[in-house]
Amino acid sequence: MNAAAGSAPTPMMAQYIEIKAANPDCLLFYRMGDFYELFFDDASVASQALGIALTRRGKHLGQDIPMAGVPVVSADDYLQKLIGLGHRVAVCEQIEDPAEARKRGGKSVVRRDVVRLVTPGTITEETLLEPGRPNYLAALSRLGGTGDKAEFALAWTDLSTGLFRLSPTSRERCLADILALEPSEIVVPDTLQADPEMAPVFKRLGRLATPEPAPLFDGTSAEERLCRFFGVATLSGFGDFSRAEMSAAAALLAYLKKTQLAARPALERPRRVDPGAVMLIDPATRASLELTRTLSGKRQGSLLAAIDRTVTGAGSRLLATRLALPLTDPAAIAARQASVAFLLADRARAHALREALRGLPDLERALSRLSLDRAGPRDLGAVRETLGRAAAVSGLFEGAEAEAELAQAFAALAALPQGLAQRLESQLADDLPLLKREGGFLREGAAAELDEARALRDRSRKVVADLQARYCQETGLRSLKIRHNNVLGYFVEVPEAQGPTLLAREGFNHRQTLASAMRFSTLELADLEMRIVEAGATALKIELEAFEALRAAVLAEMEALRRGAEALAVLDVSAALAELASAGDWVRPLVDDSLAFAVECGRHPVVEVALKASTGEPFVANDCDLSPPAGEKAGAIWLLTGPNMGGKSTFLRQNALIAVLAQMGAYVPATKAHIGVVDRLFSRVGASDDLAEGRSTFMVEMVETAAILNQAGPRTLVILDEIGRGTATYDGLSIAFAAIEHLHEVNRARALFATHYHEMTALSARLSRLKNATMRVKEWEGEVLFLHEVTAGVADRSYGIQVARLAGLPAAVVARAKDVLKQLEKGERGERRATFLDDLPLFAARPAAPEPVASPLAEALEGIDPDALTPREALEALYRLKGLA
Ligand code: ADP
Repeated sequence: MNAAAGSAPTPMMAQYIEIKAANPDCLLFYRMGDFYELFFDDASVASQALGIALTRRGKHLGQDIPMAGVPVVSADDYLQKLIGLGHRVAVCEQIEDPAEARKRGGKSVVRRDVVRLVTPGTITEETLLEPGRPNYLAALSRLGGTGDKAEFALAWTDLSTGLFRLSPTSRERCLADILALEPSEIVVPDTLQADPEMAPVFKRLGRLATPEPAPLFDGTSAEERLCRFFGVATLSGFGDFSRAEMSAAAALLAYLKKTQLAARPALERPRRVDPGAVMLIDPATRASLELTRTLSGKRQGSLLAAIDRTVTGAGSRLLATRLALPLTDPAAIAARQASVAFLLADRARAHALREALRGLPDLERALSRLSLDRAGPRDLGAVRETLGRAAAVSGLFEGAEAEAELAQAFAALAALPQGLAQRLESQLADDLPLLKREGGFLREGAAAELDEARALRDRSRKVVADLQARYCQETGLRSLKIRHNNVLGYFVEVPEAQGPTLLAREGFNHRQTLASAMRFSTLELADLEMRIVEAGATALKIELEAFEALRAAVLAEMEALRRGAEALAVLDVSAALAELASAGDWVRPLVDDSLAFAVECGRHPVVEVALKASTGEPFVANDCDLSPPAGEKAGAIWLLTGPNMGGKSTFLRQNALIAVLAQMGAYVPATKAHIGVVDRLFSRVGASDDLAEGRSTFMVEMVETAAILNQAGPRTLVILDEIGRGTATYDGLSIAFAAIEHLHEVNRARALFATHYHEMTALSARLSRLKNATMRVKEWEGEVLFLHEVTAGVADRSYGIQVARLAGLPAAVVARAKDVLKQLEKGERGERRATFLDDLPLFAARPAAPEPVASPLAEALEGIDPDALTPREALEALYRLKGLA
């Protein structure tokens, strides 16, 4: 066979290969009629990821071409799965009518082009998005080269809602800032990603990072590119942005242009988030406190899941954002608290508000789809419904005297274009189809011409029925039917046996003979067909024009609608927090510029609920006071000792969570709380998720402790749980000692420090702001009872062996441990600690059961130290023991 002829690609394959070459990092969804098809490697990847069949279509270079396809109607589901797995998809559509291609004749293929790149950060479809979670696309820029002069900035947008923010950052904190946003994707200059000094950041970001060519981030043209996008002559009206900020923002826009192609998203103006305005929470702390997701990555079990009482998607997203970014300005915090207080004071109206908001459609996301021209009739419906509900909410609070944030929200609702609501109401049908392409979404009476066209269509159906009756009568064939299909249009059908009757008749033209039937056309039917098709086309045209007009009307009111949507989200969040506070008896904390940290009867919001649900046991509330002691200028440190399982970690975490809740503007689970703004929160509690990276537990712990000691200041709140555990006792003890001294003397931070090194409690004599606290325990008939109560003082024992017994350690092991412990404790009193093991009877020699009971003989033996006895004393002891036996 001629090799060249055998390997020449078909025109279609040539087109495919060209488009694929332009999008090498994407799976290419190549439109073929009702399917998107994937070829070559893309086909194998998709077939494996989606569990769809891998087949073949034609040959290329003499080899079979692997092929997999997904139906266009269910493409969203497949996209969702692929995006979820971290793939990017290029959607390639037919951009002309196949008839056009046929007209060109020869080997012309239908023109196709990529209309959109679907990446995790740029999706807008309801089915692909999580309702309660923002979908951020971020960009990180660095200007001014490497080293200390480098200027970093972050820009982020939620394409599904139009939000657009930027903020300066730095090499040190960029990872924390990025992880606080939980972006779905972050665009970075490829040069930055390749820089070894950024390696730890990119290692952590992994597949979230999308490297793009550095010119996308060009600082000199950034301002001009932003101005062009927003159609303004200068950005000064938006704020005073740094060059790095503009570079990140312009790169975001360039990336959106690259992925959205034809469509131009309607983004809001960029707003700066001042990094000092939010509490800085480093990634390890964020993860260990399980603010928005648990260590295993789930929302269930996180603080967010425990406090989310919102009833709308936008409200849930706003709550998540507020929780991820607690504020540091007491006035801004008080403004949010005022909204909660307002709704708490008027439970009846708050309840009515929640009912009015429940199940509200997601206006922000509908607006975004309308602006991208990806919308359907239900998106217009969402505008209509939101406007209606907003009017009801406004009515509910008529004359109410709200402050700050709520006053603003009510003003935004009052400014909503209710004329638009009437227009939508008068035009849109009650029940709306998902897609606009088949029409049927305008109501009767919306347009006279449309009603006429529809009437004609409906009348024609009646005419068909009449015609069938007439034909039956005229021909005498009772089984004659008029049918319709896409190939023949309307036709007459009779059983084959009766065919000859019609063949013989004037006016019936034979079209088809099937196994059991014959089909005919007539002039009347052809005429009718044309009228019906025309009427349908006219109706659809009118509907699509009306859709465009309504879309334009909505877009003209974009600003007001966005502000209204935001107002409803604020109301939802405030009412949800009021609901939470009222149901759980939470209080409004006093947040100010002091260094106080005084919580009375604080509770852990997640553990409390979990306890109630599992054992039904009540949660024991505890006070915590880290405010500067009298005469001191810096906050206090509590050194917490107590047995394992005593509740130390719970107490530590609950106070960190209370600080976060207070500063996000929520109420807190306590009877009273006074919190001097925390600018930075550090928490090293429990296991870390960095272990997978190959560092030992001890190493991870030391790295995190180093970060705390290097960065904590007087406004910082530090929560440290059992540091120094992963090494030899003396090493660990020494490190814990030194760390707490440093916190007290140098950082002067407010801190809670849990330890099992009882030796450390002696520090309180030397460090003036250090206080000892302990978890109370009751011992009863050899059992320990954890009271989970924090009191001043020092734990007398650690009860580790009792806890081990509760955990089901074999009795022999427990008994042996007790012996070892006794010897060790003796050793601590200054005797032969190093050689104690030689003095203990061999473990294997002990009977496994029953557990030894204390006897007078054993007790007397216990009191004897053979090394300290003279020979005479030893003999006396022997006689005494004999008497006891
Ligand atoms: P530790 O850190 O001292 O080992 P934890 O804080 O992990 O102890 O607490 C152990 C268990 O005790 C928790 O899982 C919880 O069920 C219970 N617990 C802790 N604190 C309280 C409390 N204040 N009230 C009731 N139960 C508590």
